[in-house]
Amino acid sequence: TTFEAFGFATPILAALKHAGFIKPTPIQAGAIPHGLARKDVLGLAQTGTGKTAAFALPILQVMAGHKLHNRRFSTRALILAPTRELAVQIEQEFKKFGAGLGLRVVLIVGGVGRSGQVTRLSRGADIVVGCPGRVLDLMNTKELIIDQCEFFVLDEADRMLDLGFFPDIRKIVTHLPTRRQSALFSATMPAEISKLAEGLLRDPVRVTV
Ligand code: AMP
Repeated sequence: TTFEAFGFATPILAALKHAGFIKPTPIQAGAIPHGLARKDVLGLAQTGTGKTAAFALPILQVMAGHKLHNRRFSTRALILAPTRELAVQIEQEFKKFGAGLGLRVVLIVGGVGRSGQVTRLSRGADIVVGCPGRVLDLMNTKELIIDQCEFFVLDEADRMLDLGFFPDIRKIVTHLPTRRQSALFSATMPAEISKLAEGLLRDPVRVTV
């Protein structure tokens, strides 16, 4: 398989080439076609397998193909990660591959001031990448509105569970539209995560590496 075979838009293919991504990794080869077909994905994969691009590339491609005439201010994709470091990596990956698409990617994490994040959100954020605590905080003050989100990703769900984020995640999810495309990635799949996945995903395709 090649990235060209997925039919990605030219700016995405150019960014992949520039980043030195030549061949899709197994999780990418397994997950990307389903993401592009607008299916929900349950991915069993660890860090280092290329799982970020596995969920980011289909989201970018679908968004690129559904350019909105009126530049909207509502957030179209929400990606949740357990740590700031991981959220930054995901944000960078979206920026790298989405650079030519004119999409605005905003990072929402704790440990830094809210004001810069609030300003960026107020200008419009197509893709929000964040950690549950600060995301919920900004949702509570109505500075982050997710009721128009078309895409939702929960990354490293097992670490989310370990860090005690499930109550926050459940609250966040109640504000998402039921009609959406979702993905959940985890390195392990204990019962608690399967149960959460059942509530989050609709008829998911399971991809294991
Ligand atoms: P991840 O598992 O998403 O954290 O990715 C691990 C590392 O592999 C990151 O530095 C990615 O940029 C890189 N990577 C992911 N997919 C590919 C690919 N198909 N070709 C080359 N490098 C990749």
